[in-house]
Amino acid sequence: MPLEVLVKRGWIVLAVILLVGVAGWFWRDVIVKFSYNFEKTPPIISSASEIPAIGASPIEILLSFFDERAGIGSFEVTLVQENKTFPLIRESLLDKPMQNAVTSSVSIDPKKLGLRSGPVEIIVSAKDRALWSNEGKTSFASSVDLDKPRISVLSSVHNVTSAGVGMVIFKAEDPNLKKQGILVGTHLFPGYQVKLLDEQFSGHPEIFFSYFSIPFDFDLTQNPVKVIALDSAGNEASASFNFKLKVKQRPTSDINLSEVFLRNKTQELYPAYLRELKEMKGESPTVTPDQSQDLIYLFRQVNEGYRDLSSIRLETIFKDSQQSQLWHGAFGRPLSGSSTALFGQARTYRFKNLVASNSFHDGVDLASVEQDAVHPANAGVVLFVGDLGIYGGTVAVDHGFGLGTIYSHLSSMSVTPGQSITSETVIGRTGTTGLAGGDHLHYEIRLNGVSIRPEEWWDFGWIRDHLDAKIEDLKKELNPST
Ligand SMILES: [Zn+2]
Repeated sequence: MPLEVLVKRGWIVLAVILLVGVAGWFWRDVIVKFSYNFEKTPPIISSASEIPAIGASPIEILLSFFDERAGIGSFEVTLVQENKTFPLIRESLLDKPMQNAVTSSVSIDPKKLGLRSGPVEIIVSAKDRALWSNEGKTSFASSVDLDKPRISVLSSVHNVTSAGVGMVIFKAEDPNLKKQGILVGTHLFPGYQVKLLDEQFSGHPEIFFSYFSIPFDFDLTQNPVKVIALDSAGNEASASFNFKLKVKQRPTSDINLSEVFLRNKTQELYPAYLRELKEMKGESPTVTPDQSQDLIYLFRQVNEGYRDLSSIRLETIFKDSQQSQLWHGAFGRPLSGSSTALFGQARTYRFKNLVASNSFHDGVDLASVEQDAVHPANAGVVLFVGDLGIYGGTVAVDHGFGLGTIYSHLSSMSVTPGQSITSETVIGRTGTTGLAGGDHLHYEIRLNGVSIRPEEWWDFGWIRDHLDAKIEDLKKELNPST
């Protein structure tokens, strides 16, 4: 056979093979899809998240339907309470393109439906598109809770100073109580059961105490200060309480920066700031060559940006506070030295008569001899030991119920996290680490992560009158005979 013919035949054979292959593949697909009409597997139904308890406000629940072959044809959701059936949604997808996976959000409005508090069952069914409409059915148990927690404030006198602390005692009752405390603006100071403070109250799990603090420059006309309680169905109750706020302005302070200080501190702390900014927030700011040489620019980044990051870290550290009182008596001064910078200062930093930066001083500075031994202000448990941004070498101590102290600019630290300490323990030695000019101790006391006025806690009379007295009053109220 001539070569030409052979080549021609080869092409024909190849073409036929290809055609048969394509046709086969096409038909196989058609046959497989057709066979889906005869599949017998019902759709799978699932809820995207756990079905929560249903409170007085409407909620949305997210449901997913999946049918591997024929696809979802229709679904239906009903709610059953005490033999009454409430249709929630019924949807057919038969006139839409076939989908294997469908999600649907279903709204439940208990008031509109006329539901009562108590258990409910949410019944979900779905049919596929097979000839005999295979049906899957699932039910989710939930409950309706239309009742808000009940709150009543028991303590009557609440005198607080700006950035100082007050204490409120209140009752919060709900079978599904989830959260309670004092809301100041957007910050919730948690309430703890008084029985955790004193066993004498073990019969009163419904009574709570909560410390709270109203910050400097707080606008009472714009922001709420109230007791709130929330149940697990999302019902929220609030109650106001009487308090007298003694407004104190921040002290101010002007600080002149030297070039040597600026150079040394920015050289050390600015790269550390960039590292942490990337780690914590995934941000890498673009810096112009001019800025990278500008000591004022670099200082402002460290003093303001790095300060913010350090504050966020402190708030996180103190989230692990224990629910028991670890301290007793007045808080001591961690050093014998006098205060060299007041709590709350609004600081203006100047360099060559230019304003370089502004910040607030969240603690007090205590004078020290070099590498002075530092004692904690009260008994507690060490929460953090290490380098903390502008704070430098830092020990953070938990005193329980959200109260914590920190000791900063330390040159060395001699305790470990988790260690129980008393006011006798030496936790470290003063130094100049972080953003410190000379050797001193920066001391802070924080409530639920918020920095508060230290001097109140140094004063046993204040503790007795503002905290202990409220507990004593409560004892009298509950046991009038004693
Ligand atoms: Zn300081």
